[in-house]
Amino acid sequence: MDNLTMLQGFEWYLPEDGMHWNRLAQAAPQLQESGINMIWLPPAYKGAAGRCSVGYDVYDTYDLGEFDQKGSVATKYGTKEEYLAAVHTLQQHGIQVLADVVLNHMMGADATERVAVIEDAANNREQAISGEQQIMAWTRFDFPGRGGKYSDFHWNASHFSGTDWDDGAKRNGIFCFKGKTWNRETDTENGNYDYLMGADLDTDNPETVKAVTDWGKWYLDAVPVDGFRLDAVKHISFDFYRNWLQEMRAHRGSDFFAVGEYWSPDLGRLLHYLERVEGSMSLFDVPLHFAFTKAANSNGMYDLGRLRQESLAERMPDNAVTFVDNHDTQPGQALSSFIPVWFKPLAYAYILLQEKGIPCVFYGDYYGIPHDGIAPVAGLRVLCQVRARYAYGPEHAYFDDCDVVGFTRAGDEEHPQSGVAVLMTDHDAGSKYMQVNAAYAGRLMRNVLDDTMAPVTLDEQGGALFSAAGGAVSVWVLA
Ligand code: CA
Repeated sequence: MDNLTMLQGFEWYLPEDGMHWNRLAQAAPQLQESGINMIWLPPAYKGAAGRCSVGYDVYDTYDLGEFDQKGSVATKYGTKEEYLAAVHTLQQHGIQVLADVVLNHMMGADATERVAVIEDAANNREQAISGEQQIMAWTRFDFPGRGGKYSDFHWNASHFSGTDWDDGAKRNGIFCFKGKTWNRETDTENGNYDYLMGADLDTDNPETVKAVTDWGKWYLDAVPVDGFRLDAVKHISFDFYRNWLQEMRAHRGSDFFAVGEYWSPDLGRLLHYLERVEGSMSLFDVPLHFAFTKAANSNGMYDLGRLRQESLAERMPDNAVTFVDNHDTQPGQALSSFIPVWFKPLAYAYILLQEKGIPCVFYGDYYGIPHDGIAPVAGLRVLCQVRARYAYGPEHAYFDDCDVVGFTRAGDEEHPQSGVAVLMTDHDAGSKYMQVNAAYAGRLMRNVLDDTMAPVTLDEQGGALFSAAGGAVSVWVLA
């Protein structure tokens, strides 16, 4: 089987030109050539900010750029027709499409309601800091611009458990609706991290669960996606997505891929969540991203030998999506922890060429981020191609040093001439003897990232002394 390589098909600051679905469709042949065979598309539905919305300020999940709502028919990325056409074109080029599913919160309600609430402390939502009070909450969603097409469900305060804005007093707070509690089992940051933003969906209300389940089935019928990326799972009751995915898979009549965003550097929390959802999804390897952040910002003092211990992919290889950066970590975003440019090729060589996990390449790394004057990551397309052609077979790991670490893949029969050697250092130039494959004894290997480096000859054991320049990675394939 060929390696899966995912592209996160957007970054935060794409132009608000309604052209992105068309751009992705046009890029499909080139992406296929790079070995990209899975793409995570941004939320396709109308957000509160209309054409300026990246998609996480969900207004109407049934409006995929079809109705005149929030100031336009199209979303930031284009119209529903263009979305469907892009999905089709990408799939025609062998690229599986993942839809982004945001079911934690909604924003941009059509009207306010008077709601009785209790205010909780922002940093401990288990602690009330007020008695019962009345607020004006933005919780009525009637979607007049859609006029009941596809669904006549109307949202009101009973379908939400809280919000953070009192439009009467014009002030912020964490307001839990009277008679409600935050979801019993969510992340424990801030006491209980059910509440993230906007009007928080109350998944203890069966009407709410039915509404988002009906919607999911509609989506699967309306858009032939190959799977889902699930937003903000740590803010939603831990049993919700297990059940929801079960319903979706039953509706589709087959299994499909799903990956959740559980944003925490704490590997233990991710493992706990995977257990609670019974492995029904993968998770992004957030701990590995933070290990990269530490390594990249430690001036060579990080122990690269520890990289593996901090990775979800090591513990749960079949449930890990590894990544370097994303739309939340890029500069200007709240969670910004962008990996410095010198370390990017090391991080990408690591996630793309090692055996474990499905790697996700960030659009802003692949194409650059013009908004911030950031160039594409050097060598990234080459690394994607190396993954597609060479990164197969058993892995030999050499994470036995603080500074100079590496690994090899022996290749497999299905991919002739495959096999790769990777050596990296976060400090001075270094070298290491690594074994690739005895069957390749006597063959030459060349560094695809730097053709000024002399090729090396594999000895009778199929090994050689590989070198990497200071703060760099070398990637060797058969010459
Ligand atoms: Ca929530």
